[in-house]
Amino acid sequence: MLATLRRIVQEVNTAHDLEQASAIIVARVKQSMSADVCSIYLFDQGLQQYILMASEGLNPASVGVVRLSPGEGLVGLVGETEELLNLDNAPDHPRYRFIAETGELSFHGFLGVPIIHHRQVMGVVVVRQCRRCRFDESEVAFLLTIAAQLAGAIAHADARGEIKPFTELPAGGDNRPIVALPGAPGVGIGHAVVVYPLANLDAVPHRQSNDTATEILALEQALEAERNNIQALEASIHPALGAESRALFEAYLLMLNSDTLIEKSIARIRQGCWAPGAWRDTINEQAQLFESMDDPYLRERADDLRDLGRRILAQLQNEVRRPPDYPAQTILVGEEISATMLAEVPRERLVGVVSVRGSSASHVAILAHAMGVPAVVGAGELPVGRIDGCELVVDGYRGRIFVSPPQSVCDEYYHLAREEEVLVAGLEGLRELPAETPDGLHLPLYANTGLLSDLAPSIESGAEGVGLYRTEFPFMIRERFPGEEEQRTIYREVLKGFLPRPVTLRTLDVGGDKALPYFPIEEENPFLGWRGIRITLDHPEIFLVQLRAMMRASIGLNNLQLLLPMISNVAEVDHALHLIGRAYHELRDAGEQVMMPQVGIMVEVPSVIYQMETLASRVDFFSVGTNDLTQYLLAVDRNNPRVASLYDGLHPAVIRALIQIVSGAHLLDKPVGVCGEMAGDPLAALLLLGIGVDGLSMSAASMPRVKAVIRNFTVSEAREALDQALQYDNAAAIREHLEQLLEQQGLGGLVRAGK
Ligand code: PEP
Ligand code: MG
Repeated sequence: MLATLRRIVQEVNTAHDLEQASAIIVARVKQSMSADVCSIYLFDQGLQQYILMASEGLNPASVGVVRLSPGEGLVGLVGETEELLNLDNAPDHPRYRFIAETGELSFHGFLGVPIIHHRQVMGVVVVRQCRRCRFDESEVAFLLTIAAQLAGAIAHADARGEIKPFTELPAGGDNRPIVALPGAPGVGIGHAVVVYPLANLDAVPHRQSNDTATEILALEQALEAERNNIQALEASIHPALGAESRALFEAYLLMLNSDTLIEKSIARIRQGCWAPGAWRDTINEQAQLFESMDDPYLRERADDLRDLGRRILAQLQNEVRRPPDYPAQTILVGEEISATMLAEVPRERLVGVVSVRGSSASHVAILAHAMGVPAVVGAGELPVGRIDGCELVVDGYRGRIFVSPPQSVCDEYYHLAREEEVLVAGLEGLRELPAETPDGLHLPLYANTGLLSDLAPSIESGAEGVGLYRTEFPFMIRERFPGEEEQRTIYREVLKGFLPRPVTLRTLDVGGDKALPYFPIEEENPFLGWRGIRITLDHPEIFLVQLRAMMRASIGLNNLQLLLPMISNVAEVDHALHLIGRAYHELRDAGEQVMMPQVGIMVEVPSVIYQMETLASRVDFFSVGTNDLTQYLLAVDRNNPRVASLYDGLHPAVIRALIQIVSGAHLLDKPVGVCGEMAGDPLAALLLLGIGVDGLSMSAASMPRVKAVIRNFTVSEAREALDQALQYDNAAAIREHLEQLLEQQGLGGLVRAGK
């Protein structure tokens, strides 16, 4: 059963349109359950109807024709109750509805199972028998499993644009947005440029091309180049190879010369597809053929074919790899947007970022924030593969995307964007003013930085120093660990830029979702694994180089503060302090005029909350990383769009944790700041003021908004806002409450589009 199931799911994953996927499912399910009929009804959101998408056993002419409203017939009942229905004689059921078009007169046994994804009914899969019979437990379990697997596969394929629904693009030409998550505030209107990882067949987006000759030539050149590659490889290591390996090379060459692969791809190109898309479809189709074979040897060949497919794709991408033409108003769209993808777009052309993965605390959001570009993340419903070149409106406040919206939506957002410009220009005036409450409390605002490109805006933002310099970014954009002198130069630029203001350099915090291309870490649970201080303590040779570079960078400036990430116990702090002391003494012994910097730790692992006093006696300051703290307190992966709606820094538990952290640190008079994304959120900033934190560190782009909040609320008003917030038991209610407070002060425009 499991093998059958796997094979079906595998096949469905490779289907490139919904008809094909559905046809595979119904044929395989009917066969493996020995049923007389298997049908899939998909719920079309646009039409609000169940549509018979595929059937094996019903009249083929009824496919695509039979449509049921949500409450209609047994299919409607399964969808409505979100429960399976197992009947020995369907016509006896009061909700049974006879549908003439399907020619279903002679069927009695009925089993219907809803296909549900993210609590949403996507369709119903039905099997029927001519005879009267209830389906047994194992059959029911099989269909339930199929439906659950399919829900993900269908949603995923749909999101990638590999499936063409009956209605066109989900928001095509109408004013319904795709609902995702806010990544960075602001409104962006422009054209989608879809970026994707190379040599990944599944990531190739759909693109039209009318230049058939060029596309065919590109494919032929790619095939020729790979033929040469394989022959050269075979020739160079031939003597050492066993017969089996030689056979593999020969099989690859045979496949490469196969008329089927070439002709089918060329036929697709002639139909208007670009070469990578045509090649992807041909490989998927052929691999699927192999996968459906019963002979295990032949089934295995599907993997070889996919491998070959990737190799040719890599060649093809070498051929076609010219940086995309970034239009004047580019909205960068991708499954996952990396720092390098962002860096490739000329800054003046980038007006928005959309990432399928991620939440408001993932690094793409943080980068977009730092660059002041509106971003929407966790856009799992976006048909990425089909929107290259489409006009998009990105609402980074609410996490909404409009695809090819009508003029009225564009006009509305142009209007909001203009209002926004006015608001930002108005906030500019705050730059020179202190971050002081009307009753005279000064709450220092610091900058979060790490990209050299955001250094100038941070310096000019009026920040009172750097609260968080993420050293991993300069590590990420290199091809090897930067050397001591290289690092010293980078750090000195920051320290000098802010002199005499303090600069907090955080030691390397890789792992989790921040990978170094030259230091890959493969883990099942990367966020619970080897990250931050855990790596650097295990690699003192890397840590000591960084510590020396930091201290030497500060010679003569002496505005360095050191921050240790991912601390979860006292021993880590002691060990790190020991290494810091060692680096200091070694440098002093070598005659370098370094000074011992202040040392602080990040509070981002919940265990720290319960050892604040012990830790406070060892370090000089604390900095709360609310991005990770929220993820670990709520057990919600900050990058997983499936659970992203559960990720919320305004959760009452997070607020209570913050209160405890601040009182713990203050017991020993140690200052505590916040450097996670919460600090840059005007709503959360009001609460943090009430909680009594000693500083907030945020991207330069967020600073004016947060300063506006601080300058408009007294400490006692902020404390009252906090007390009221604590009366609520959920984040949504707290958010609404804080929004109201901002609206009452005429500051609503800080957290939504418009004035
Ligand atoms: C945090 O976790 O809140 C933080 C500031 O660190 P990072 O986002 O780099 O993990
Ligand atoms: Mg962190």
